[in-house]
Amino acid sequence: MTTSSLLEEAVSISKQFDISKDQLVAISDEFIRLTDLGLKSDGMPMAMIPSYVTGVPNGSEKGTFLAVDLGGTNFRVCSIHLNGDGTFDLLQTKSVIPRSLMVGTAKELFSFLAKKVEEFIKTHFEENFNEELGHSANEHVYKLGFTFSFPVNQTAINRGTLIRWTKGFDVADAVGKDVCLLLQHELDLLKLPVHVAALVNDTVGTLMSRSYSSPPESVTLLGVILGTGTNGAYTESLAAVDKLDKSAAALADKSIMVINTEWGSFDNDMKVLPRTSWDDAVDLETPNPGYQMFEKRVSGMFLGEILRRILLELHEKGHLFSRSSTPLTTAWSLDTSILSRVEADITPDLVAVKSIVETDLGLQTTLPERQAVKLIVEGIGKRSALLAGAVIGGILVHLKACQSNPVVDIGVDGSVFEFYPGYEKLMRVALREVIGEDENKIRIGIAKDGSGVGAALCALVA
Ligand code: ADP
Ligand code: MG
Repeated sequence: MTTSSLLEEAVSISKQFDISKDQLVAISDEFIRLTDLGLKSDGMPMAMIPSYVTGVPNGSEKGTFLAVDLGGTNFRVCSIHLNGDGTFDLLQTKSVIPRSLMVGTAKELFSFLAKKVEEFIKTHFEENFNEELGHSANEHVYKLGFTFSFPVNQTAINRGTLIRWTKGFDVADAVGKDVCLLLQHELDLLKLPVHVAALVNDTVGTLMSRSYSSPPESVTLLGVILGTGTNGAYTESLAAVDKLDKSAAALADKSIMVINTEWGSFDNDMKVLPRTSWDDAVDLETPNPGYQMFEKRVSGMFLGEILRRILLELHEKGHLFSRSSTPLTTAWSLDTSILSRVEADITPDLVAVKSIVETDLGLQTTLPERQAVKLIVEGIGKRSALLAGAVIGGILVHLKACQSNPVVDIGVDGSVFEFYPGYEKLMRVALREVIGEDENKIRIGIAKDGSGVGAALCALVA
């Protein structure tokens, strides 16, 4: 293939990832429509799940809590000490979840999680742990916040049944079960002094965490996840949550409710979302084809796989990397961090791209091939950021947030947002299309360790 036709082909592929201004507005309009629908009744396309969190912190909260986080690439166990001044101290261990446990039985998965909690307590809280006796009645019992980032039908702050798995998990016998009880059961079998006090979606945790640590003069309205998956949670007025029975004692005299939108499943009907043949191919490789269609265009689990599909197709046509055999044939083998590193390379010869493709993919490249890769990466990354901006804008329109606040604070957690070059800037381009000049009222802050701190804050209010 000639250099110019390779670059033309790359440009034309990249163009398939473009989103026009009109499309961005159509996306946010549809998003607002589904937001309203989801608040009215159960079983709607966007779940709009009440979190049973009825207040957000202001930074003065204090105490020590345990938190675990299941829902992404790693399982984290941490202890969080809230200092009461918007700061905290955190101890954390991370473990990769073996792929076999992601598709095994509930017993296998939750006993693995409980063992990790045991290891953590033994290492860091030895004085409170007596191996032979387990915990005695007078011993301190730790409150644990359980960050569980899959769609859950929540009925109380520490009760919730799993609706379905996402992000590559598929533990069939856990669906329909209360995940807090599954975890508590395994913790009890190990005689650990731990009480699962709150079930928290990571996006709710991110909102809480940012609210705890953000500058005091502003209120955080929205928490956003842009990591393995993507999701958003925001503070809604309780009265607007039509589908919720507000007679429960726990809701008396409450005025707000944090809502977990589950926007990963926005527009599964594909009315407004952009679509390429590679998106369809990736979708078919997942355990849940036809679901999480928004997430599959935006989040870290999928961007690398979209790129892999495109590069493999070009290679098979003989247009790219034709001199080498390719390791690109293994599904899910191309990590999204590679896109970040490609995007970051602004050298004329694309020397970083050269070494990335050489070391990570084992392929020799020519400069035009590297230019082609970069063009395609830019298309995929830009589309992700614009889509994220469009739905964030949709929430802010729904809340009339910019009309009533001089500063609108948003907390974000996740490696895609944190590390992808230029991501926030592109997100703001879409925000500007949706909400106009008010875009400059928006302050976006990274909620570092958001899920752990957020879970601790939820355990505290529980
Ligand atoms: P989790 O979702 O498990 O809480 P992260 O927020 O770190 O964890 O997100 C992990 C996802 O982010 C993975 O899909 C990974 O491919 C992607 N990722 C990791 N590093 C980067 C990076 N530098 N740039 C873009 N994406 C990244
Ligand atoms: Mg996370």
